Amino acid sequence: MPAADERLHIATSLSDALAALADRGRSGAPLAGATWIMRAPLREERQDWSYVAISKIEELRRVDILDSEISIGSCVTHAELALSLAPLPECWALAQAAARSANQAIRCVATVGGNLCASTFAAADLIPALICLEAEVELATPKESERVSMERFLEVRTNLETWPHHPSGVCSA
Ligand SMILES: Cc1cc2nc3c(=O)[nH]c(=O)nc-3n(C[C@H](O)[C@H](O)[C@H](O)COP(=O)(O)OP(=O)(O)OC[C@H]3O[C@@H](n4cnc5c(N)ncnc54)[C@H](O)[C@@H]3O)c2cc1C
Repeated sequence: MPAADERLHIATSLSDALAALADRGRSGAPLAGATWIMRAPLREERQDWSYVAISKIEELRRVDILDSEISIGSCVTHAELALSLAPLPECWALAQAAARSANQAIRCVATVGGNLCASTFAAADLIPALICLEAEVELATPKESERVSMERFLEVRTNLETWPHHPSGVCSA
């Protein structure tokens, strides 16, 4: 079990990450690609978080293309998303948003979950495309997971620590 006072815990599974976040309470935060987090000092934001790194979690790194929906793990990078969706004309806008945001270096590490959860960044490229696709966001917790619409997610995301569940989002369209 991770010690709750660790500054960085590298989670090996979703349940491990959720347990580590639950242990840390309000001082814990997920760390995905870290492209937004690494600039926290420039934004003069709080830096005393105890991070739970989630980017090695295999189940959060998949894009599953099913008959009636596409499930996008929260740790899929922009570059991986663009590649996975390239053959699907119905996902063109989302694939283009993923392929053109930021720059190549950022796209190779910045994740879908980070894009949705960087709530102080007002111009996240994936969000409008996901709204158009009527995507839902899955919020996982140690006990259960819940799907909410993108619109509802945007209403509550700045307060996710007070959401009944601790966040580790997996979004699906
Ligand atoms: C130079 C530069 C250019 C950028 N340009 C663009 C751009 O053109 N378009 C754009 O959309 N964005 C841009 N960004 C913003 C941002 O980096 C990206 O939106 C990126 O997707 C964030 O993902 P990340 O994995 O790096 O998130 P991180 O930095 O790891 O995390 C960001 C936030 O989300 C939380 N978080 C991460 N994953 C999860 C999860 N699964 N569940 C719950 N909370 C989570 C973290 O705790 C943190 O609060 C840019 C950033 C930089 C530094």
